[in-house]
Parts: sequence; C-alpha cells; structure tokens
Amino acid sequence: MDDAEARAYLEGLRWPDGPVCPHCGADKPYRLSRKPGSKMRRGVLKCRSCRKQFTVTVGTIFEDSHIPLNKWLMAIHLLCASKKGISAHQLHRMLGVTYKSAWFMAHRIRYAMEQPPLRDKLRGVVEVDETYIGGKPRKGQTKDRRDAGRWKGEKAMVVALVERDGDVRSISRRTVTEKNLGQVVRENVDPSARVMTDSFPAYRGLRRHFADHQAVDHSRQEYRRGDVYTQTVESYFAILKRGINGVYHHVGEQHLHRYLAEFDFRYNRRKVEDGIRAALAIKATEGKRLRYRD
Ligand SMILES: [Zn+2]
Repeated sequence: MDDAEARAYLEGLRWPDGPVCPHCGADKPYRLSRKPGSKMRRGVLKCRSCRKQFTVTVGTIFEDSHIPLNKWLMAIHLLCASKKGISAHQLHRMLGVTYKSAWFMAHRIRYAMEQPPLRDKLRGVVEVDETYIGGKPRKGQTKDRRDAGRWKGEKAMVVALVERDGDVRSISRRTVTEKNLGQVVRENVDPSARVMTDSFPAYRGLRRHFADHQAVDHSRQEYRRGDVYTQTVESYFAILKRGINGVYHHVGEQHLHRYLAEFDFRYNRRKVEDGIRAALAIKATEGKRLRYRD
C-alpha cells in the first residue's frame, strides 16, 4: 500500500458516503489537482459551501504528521494484530522511521484507542483483580531484574474488571484502598452482577452493593469453587504483564493508562479478525488530534 492508496482507504473508512467538509458539514467538495513534485499537500479537497480546504486527516491523530499515511496504517495494523503489542524499536525497524517517530506514533495510536466504554456497566458474572505493574528500575538496577518486590514503591496498581465472555476495563491507581477499590467497582459494575474476587481484604464490603460477592482464597490454595473463580481476569493480567514487561519493558506511570487502553481495546475486540480490529482503530483516530505537548 502506498501513500495514495492509504489515503483512499482512509477516505473510504471515514466517509463511506463520500467526503464531508469537517468545517461546515457540507458534502460534495471538489478535489484540488496536484502537479507531480508540487509542494501542495496531498489529497486536498475544497468545500463548495464554506470554501475551506481540508484533507481526510483533519481532526485525526495523523494531522500535522510528516510520516506518510501508509506507514501510519501499517503501524496501526501491527499494534492491532499483536496480542502483546509492538515496541517502538520494532516499529522503528519495520517501518523505517526514526525511533523517536515510532515512539510518538505508538503513543498517538494508543491515545486513539482510549475509548469510552462500549456499554454502560459490566453485568452478569464480573471478575475483579488487582496487580502491580509497570514502573522503572531504580538507579543501579539493570533492566533484566524483574523482581517485582524490589520495585514495588515505583509501580502502579492496576485494577481490572472483566465480564465473563464480555469486556474488560482496566484502571490504574497509585495505591488501592477499600475505599477507592469499592468506588472503581461500583462505577463500572451493575448492581445486578455477581462479583468474583480473591480474598484481598479491600474487597470486603462489596457484598452490600451487588447481587452477590464471592471470593476465592488463594492463600489456602483455593482457586475454584464451582463457578467462583478469577481465572478470566488473571489471564488478562498475564497478557498485559507479558506485553508490558517483555515488549515495552518499563512503562512510566504517567503513560500507563494509555497502555491499558491499548490492551483493553484489543481484548474488547478479540472476537473480530485482525483487519476489522485495525479498521476500528483507524476509525477511532477521528476527533483525536494530539499535539506534541500532550
Ligand atoms: Zn465547508
């Protein structure tokens, strides 16, 4: 796919019924012709109504980028097709862009993947678990020492809520208390749900807000009691940790929510083919303009 093909593909996704002016909403703009070698931007359209010019990248994460669109779309494809994600180093090598550009592209794509929840609240059986994740090694520690205990102070807590056979929502907090954990669960889970957790004390008190709350006691080697288990959310954490520790190495706390958005985006669209997942991510780039200072 070259740059022109990528542009045509993006126009088809964004404007299935033909181009629409992003400034005034009028349809049937005309295309400005561009001489080969001209310095004019590619793919410029002009509105017949408000007379403003625009391209398909207006208001997207691609706007103002010097990176060709076909490389952008390839990066989105790679990020959507790989279960654990793709590092900026891999993108840099595969796309032939600088490491800095690759890092920035991945960052923008994750920003596009930050979505409002697909549904109001999780229902049915909802598993909730919490884990330490990310963080950077302290000075003097090498990258290979992944001893979680040593880094605890610099790691963030991630709470994940998974509806069995449904969606995940993961949320980072610096620390987890009974108060903020209860708040996260109440904000994301419908009162009609049956909530399953481990025996972490901060989950006590959930029972009065939900139809049911059951806990498995890992400290007593209890992992499953009938349909009471937390293996769905634990599998989600396994993928997230392999991704963040293996591919992304160490994620700073200030970026963690973006990485969580990326993993949630893929998980919540896990039942569709890679190509469709990528198209959904490309559509999500609309209204997501991001500047360097963001
Ligand atoms: Zn217009």
